[in-house]
Formats: sequence, C-alpha cells, structure tokens
Amino acid sequence: MRFFDQTLILIAPVRRALAVAFAGVVLALAGCASTGDSPAKAVQQPKNIIILLADGATSTQWDFGRYSSRVLRQLPFATTDVVFKEGALGLASTPPSDAYVVDSAASASAMSTGHKVNNFVVAVTPDGKSVPTAMEVAKASGKRIGLVTTATVYDATPAAFSLHAQSRDNSQRLVDQYLALEPDVLMGGGADYFMPAGTAGSKRKDGKDMIAAFRAKGHAVARNTAELKSATGAKLLGLFAHDDMDFELDRDPAREPTTAEMTAAALKALSQGSPNGFVLLVENENPDSAGHENDAASLMHALWAFDDAVKVALEFRRRNPDTLIIVTGDHETGGFSPTYAAKDLSSLSRRNRFYSGDEHLRMLGRITMSLSAVNEKLGRKPSGEALDELLSRHFQGFRLDPDLREMILKRQTLERNFSRVVPNLLGRMVARQTGYYWGTSGHTTEPIVIGAMGPGAELFRGYQDNTDFGKHLHRLIQGK
Ligand SMILES: [Zn+2]
Repeated sequence: MRFFDQTLILIAPVRRALAVAFAGVVLALAGCASTGDSPAKAVQQPKNIIILLADGATSTQWDFGRYSSRVLRQLPFATTDVVFKEGALGLASTPPSDAYVVDSAASASAMSTGHKVNNFVVAVTPDGKSVPTAMEVAKASGKRIGLVTTATVYDATPAAFSLHAQSRDNSQRLVDQYLALEPDVLMGGGADYFMPAGTAGSKRKDGKDMIAAFRAKGHAVARNTAELKSATGAKLLGLFAHDDMDFELDRDPAREPTTAEMTAAALKALSQGSPNGFVLLVENENPDSAGHENDAASLMHALWAFDDAVKVALEFRRRNPDTLIIVTGDHETGGFSPTYAAKDLSSLSRRNRFYSGDEHLRMLGRITMSLSAVNEKLGRKPSGEALDELLSRHFQGFRLDPDLREMILKRQTLERNFSRVVPNLLGRMVARQTGYYWGTSGHTTEPIVIGAMGPGAELFRGYQDNTDFGKHLHRLIQGK
C-alpha cells in the first residue's frame, strides 16, 4: 500500500519536471534514486489551503446544484464548472472503523488526521489515541487557521478538523478546547456554549464567558451580519445563532450572514500578517441537514449558498495563485436522486409515468419554507388546518395525498430508516410530484467527490480513501 501511494505521487511531478527544465528532471530523478521519500519533495507546496466542504454532498448533490443553478438562477455552478472541470478530480471511500456507513465526526476525523476512528468520535482512534488534527498541524507549522460553518462551531466537522473528544456531543469540552487552540477565525452558530450558565439561551454548566475569553485573546466579536461586515481585525469570532444557523430558505439576512459573506470575512482576517499562509475550513452543513429532512428545495438553496462561497475562494486564488482550493463533502445524506415515477397508482405502465425535468425543478423553485420550519410551526400535535394553511402559502402547486396527510396527523413514520417523521412525509409529497425521491433520512456509503485546484492538487486525483485525504493534507501543510 505504501509503495503504491508513492508510485502514484511520483508520476505527476516527474512529468511536470520534464516539461519545465532539464535541471528539474535531474533533481527529481536524483531524488527517486536515493530514498523512497524523495518523490514527495517534488510535489508543489501551497502557501494557503482553503477547504470548502458541503456536509452530506456527493456527486448526485453536486450535479443537482449545477443544473438547478443554470435553470433557475441562470448562473454557472463553480464547484462543477470550474473546480471539478479544470482541477484535479478524485473520489474517496468513507467507512469508519466500526461500520460501512459513516457519521460526520468519523469522516471529518479521517480527512483531518489520516486515521480511521469510530462513528461519533472526534479525532481519537479506537485504541484511545488523540491523533493530530489538520488545524493542530497547521498551527504547529506556523500557519494561521480558520473555521467557518453554518452549523454550531463545535459541530462534528469543524471539531474533528481541530479538536479531540470521545463523543461529538461533548460540546462544552470542545468549546473549551477551541479557546486553548485559539483559531484566528472561528465563525458559525453555537453561541449557547459560549455564554455563562444563567444567561438566556446558555447551555454551559459553568459560569465561564467564552466570548469575553476570546476577546481577551484579541478576537473581534461579530454577532450579526452588519458587525461581520464592519470587523477589521486579523482575529475574528463570529457567532450568529444560539444553535445551528438557519436554512437559506428561512434565513434572516440581517441576523445571519451567508456562507459567502463569512468566507470573504475569514479570508480578509486570515490574510493579514500571515507570512506562512493559512488553512481555512469552510463548511456548509445544510446539504446534510436538508438530506436528513428529505428537503430537496432546502438542499438546492444550500448548494447555491455553498457555491457562492466557492466563487469567493476562487476569486481569492486568482489574486493569490499560491493557494490550494479543495472542494468536497464528507459523505452522502439521504440516498437522494431525481428519477422517474408513476403519476399515480392507477397504472405502472410507461404511459402513466413522468420523468423529472425543468417543470419539476421549477416547482421546487417555488417552495418558500424549509420542511424543518414547517415541522417547527406545526408543533408536536399537527392540526389539519395549520398544515393546509402552511402548504397553500409556501408550497404552491403541491397537493398532499390522503395517505401522507393521515400519517402526518398521526405522526407515523414512512419506514424504519426515516426518523424525521413530518419532514420526511412532506419530502415524499414533493417527491411524488417532482421525482426528487429520497432513499433514507440517514447517511449512505456513496464515495465523496474531491476537486482540487492549485499547488498540490494532483495528490487528490483518482480513487482513494478519506484517510488519504488527511495524509495529503498534513504533507501539504507541513511542506513535505
Ligand atoms: Zn448528517
């Protein structure tokens, strides 16, 4: 395996050296002849690394983002049209140590450390070892570090890129570890674990004021979009929600900035006084959350919001070509895909079938509320009137079949692998009329797609494992 890895890495650099100059060939070949580690030295080293991660997204989601963006907002989708098309493209398998299906903690741990861990564990191997995370390695290498997410900042993905815990649910412990690690930029939701116990909305068990503690370390603090836009310092703590930030469909733009706005602010802060460069992780959590709810419209808007952030990163790379951009996900959520289906159950013949197309996509485009928000508004005991009112107001053109309506009012699940009762049933309503069906409300084993542009991008080409992603990342951060 080791030999195989190195052989793969050797090919691109040698070819590049041949093209550039004879001297380059001599250097590269001399390196090959001496030790097995030498080919690594020929890999181009980035100064800055920006990892953009859409939680829960892989090829089916990326392609949905691409054609929906083209049809409904007449905009190119930079993830596929630029990064995947012009950069190095790879796939990676995702299983954790203890199953085939991965959770975000185990997947991000592998991508951050290069080691497999069990599900729900944050960068601690099954034998109990805390293995170095990408952000720890970056910090030790003199790079500045930043984490941006639409989830809570202590959620599985940013946590596993930085910290350690036996359980991803050790939220207070994770926040305390952030203070010790001191990321230059930390942005997202999750103010609840930063406020002292007794404050409205606080979930801390102690009286520590973590916002004040970050301020004492020199961080500017932003609590809404306007404060984020006016922040000028090199260090920034942004907390825009008590819990997760909202779905794009429900977001109040004055209270919560977009992923693109957070990315722009993070890049502005991180590029100040950074002779050794920086490593920035930008996560949009909502393709995963929308997948769990089986909410195709929310997924679509989340993918667009994520892609707008990719465009910000690409613009930064245009001005700073020594930057490596990596666009990826951590696993697939929802077993999602448009398909064809019978219009009703009167006949299963092809004549009574529709194939998902532009008109069905346009129906998704007319939805104006997330299924999660509908669920919240309906409360624990949904009433028929409230349901009809919300559907007629926010789901123009959709009809709720009697079987689904009855299940919603009785709160009956579709199947054992559908755990979000009301959103999953409304997701099925949307699927029956648009063809955007879901196979589960959980994660699946689909390999993730990795697109990379810039120095070191070639390492990510081909079919690999998510631990290889972590190994490449460490190597590029450490300049090896
Ligand atoms: Zn998930």
